[in-house]
Order: sequence, then C-alpha cells, then structure tokens
Amino acid sequence: MHMTTDPGVHNQSGGARATTNIGDAMTLRTVFTRDGEATDLPKFALGDSMLLPETAYQIVHDEAMLDGNARLNLATFVSTWMDDEAQKLYAETVDKNMIDKDEYPQTAAIEDRCWRILADLWHNPDVDNAIGTSTIGSSEACMLGGLALKRHWQTRRRAEGKSTENPNIVLSTAVQVCWEKFCNYFEVEPKWVPISPDHLVLDGHELEKYVDENTIGVVAIMGQTYTGMYEPVTAIAAKLDEIQADTGLDVKIHIDGASGAMIAPFCQPDLEWDFRVDRVVSINTSGHKYGLVYPGVGWIVWRNTDALPESMVFHCSYLGGDMPTLALNFSRPGAQVLLQYYMFLRLGRDGFTQVQQGSLDVAQWLSGQISQIDGLELVSKGDTIPVFAWKLKAGHSENWNLYDLSDRLRMKGWLVPAYPMADDLADLTVQRIVVRAGLSHDLARALIADIRAEVDFLNRLESPMPREGDGSHFHH
Ligand SMILES: *Cc1c(COP(=O)(O)O)cnc(C)c1O
Repeated sequence: MHMTTDPGVHNQSGGARATTNIGDAMTLRTVFTRDGEATDLPKFALGDSMLLPETAYQIVHDEAMLDGNARLNLATFVSTWMDDEAQKLYAETVDKNMIDKDEYPQTAAIEDRCWRILADLWHNPDVDNAIGTSTIGSSEACMLGGLALKRHWQTRRRAEGKSTENPNIVLSTAVQVCWEKFCNYFEVEPKWVPISPDHLVLDGHELEKYVDENTIGVVAIMGQTYTGMYEPVTAIAAKLDEIQADTGLDVKIHIDGASGAMIAPFCQPDLEWDFRVDRVVSINTSGHKYGLVYPGVGWIVWRNTDALPESMVFHCSYLGGDMPTLALNFSRPGAQVLLQYYMFLRLGRDGFTQVQQGSLDVAQWLSGQISQIDGLELVSKGDTIPVFAWKLKAGHSENWNLYDLSDRLRMKGWLVPAYPMADDLADLTVQRIVVRAGLSHDLARALIADIRAEVDFLNRLESPMPREGDGSHFHH
C-alpha cells in the first residue's frame, strides 16, 4: 500500500497499480478536501458516482447544522430531549415496523398496553371495553376520531331514512390545522365558531347557532395551539345537553388533547375534561408532545367499541395471522411506541407530575417576568399547558413589532415565533413560548435576560425598524 496521496509521482510500477492507488488516494485525503465536498454536487438530481460514506455523512451533517438548535426552539411542542437510556433504546429498535404485528408481537402488545394506560389515565369507566391505537401523531389520530364521528352519523341517518349528504363538524377557528385538513380531505363542512376578545376559546356560547341535524360532533381543544388555553369541556357538554333537551339532537364531543391530555391528568387532576364527561366519545394526544417522546407517535382512545364503528377496522390476513388495523398509514416506526412505554415505566404518575409541573413552573416564572417588561402584555399565563403568549401593549411605539423581537432573539439562537391570531382576531399579533422538559430555570433566566435586552434595544429606536414583510415565522 502506497502511503501517498499522489500516485502519479511516487508509483513507479505501472497503470494497474496506479488505478488502485487513485482509490486509496481518495480515502487518504482529509475529509474536507475530498471530491463531493470540494466540488459542487448536484442537489436536485441523483449524482452519477458514489461518495465515501464519511463524505456523504459530513455533507448531510453539516447541512443539518444550519437548522436552528432544537433545544432553543421555543416554537415547537414536540420533544427535543430524552435521556440516555431512551436514546439507547431508540437506537436498538429503530428497525422495527409498527405494522409487522405478527413478527414483532411484543411491540404490538406494548402498543396495546400504552393506549390502555391512557384510557385509564383519562378515566375511561370500562377500559376492557375501550379501544385505541397508536398513530404517527395527533393529526392522524384526529382524522380517525373525525371519521368515526362521521361514520356514526351516517349510520344513524341512514337508519332514519335521512340524507347523509352534508355532514358538518363544529369547532373553534383556533383549532390546529389538522382539523382543516380533516374537513377538506374527508368532505365535512367546518362550522367555525369564531373566537373574540370575550370568547378566546370555544366555550359553548351560542353553540345552538352552529349545531344542527347534520352535525357529526363538536371538537373541544385541551391546549389551544395559539395560547395554550383549555376549552371548558363541561360547559360545552352542558350546552349540548340543553340543545338535546330542546331539539332531540344528541351531539358527541371529540377531545383534541394533543398537548393538554398529557398535562391535565397530572397537574389539574380535578378538572373534568375527559371520559368523566359523558358526551366525550374519543380523545387524542401526541405522544411526541407532552408524552415526552421524540417525533412520530400519537394516540387515540375511544370510550368503547360502540364509539368506533367496526366498519373502520380492517382485518388483514397478514403473513398468516389476523391483524386488525385502524390507521391511515401502513408502515411506520415502532420504536416510538416502545419509547412511550419506556416513559410510562420510567416516570409513573409521580414522575410525569414532577416533569410537567416543572415545565409549568418555568412557564409561569417566564410569563411573570414578561408581564413586567415595558410594552408587553400577557394573553395567557402558562397555567393550563406550559405554553403562553403575549402581545404588544395598546399604544405601543409603531417603530417595532413582535416580528422584530422574534428576529432579534433569533440572533441569539432563541426561536420564539410571532404570529397572527386565528381568523377573527388575525389583526392581533402574539408571540408564544412553549416550555418543554429541558428548558431549565437556568436557560429560562438566560432567555429573559436576552428578551429584556432586545426589548430595550427596540424601545430605544428613533425610527421604524426596516423589515421585509411579516408573518413568515410561525409553525403550528
Ligand atoms: C400539535 C397539535 C395537533 C397536531 O398534532 P401532531 O402530533 O403534530 O400531528 C393537533 N391539535 C393540537 C391542539 C395540537 O396542538
């Protein structure tokens, strides 16, 4: 083996050897001087030749480095920290496909345990008769929940000899975008209940104006994405009771508990929002939000097998077994389901309470600090889920807005999005912080120091901040 990077000069033994040595030469070149890294690779077409794995790795690694730092991303609800044992388990199980229930029966059994644990946590009165599944996230879970409502309504209407032409669903304009997708993809008319300064969430107010014989259900959000606020499920249910007494319409509730369904059971145990409320037929959550697992897992549980039409369950004969499945996807990672079970075992009720309360404490400390900053006014405090938002005080300087503050914080590495509120309040710009496990008191103090410094800077401006156009920063 010639220990040289230049076979043309040092190799005296002819063409064949020289060809081999060109390959050797490539591996010997230091990583940042190799072909591929030293030259421009095609970005939108497959390259013709191969790269060394280290070279390809370095290129992808370096591009990912340009993304924001996930731990400083205060925009996302999705987990950005898990402990070393979880990381180890993840690496060991990354090859498992959730759909291969025949081949990975233990993973399937663990999936089953997880949704039963959730059914119990959410006070399902008869867990043995409940039904649930994991999904890729809350979006898929919401689609399944919405579809079950639609299917039920259709069955009932057909039995009554009535039209199934125009199903609608009643929801707040502040729902997460997955509900707009549900309505669009599955052809259900959204009956939007507007939010207003007096009714920042769907609270039952004037609900009778929206519910009719074509209503498949009402969505109540536990942890609105804009502000973190809870919709009062018992008040919505009471209003639906009145509507039933007046009209005979028996309208059920689906709870979108993407974030709140993993906070309320631990930190607001007396709040009734779950299966304790009779009208609640199904609940979803994101395992990858306050279920404390890395992205790709969600959950949905139905009150009982009656609430999930059997027509939605597929019985596949798969590699010799009967595999009941209920999902929009076929293949998807199984590792996250194992990670969810790991978190359930690791934390138990005490641990979840400790972690979630820790996030709530940090959120409320932060919101308290922000309420004292000149020019900022809280929209929510972070006392439901550990999420809160603020706005600029009325009469504040026109020289800067919350998008400018967001940009200034980005220079320090913090991702703190500003965005317009939902439709009817779209004139109102708010800025939001999502506190997750991993945002320690120490980091929170550093964040507040940076926010204060940047607000001071902006408040000293004597002319308007130049900007290229607002509204591009928000990720639901
Ligand atoms: C995040 C969120 C969703 C979507 O959940 P994914 O797990 O990201 O698919 C739906 N509803 C609410 C209220 C959310 O906060």
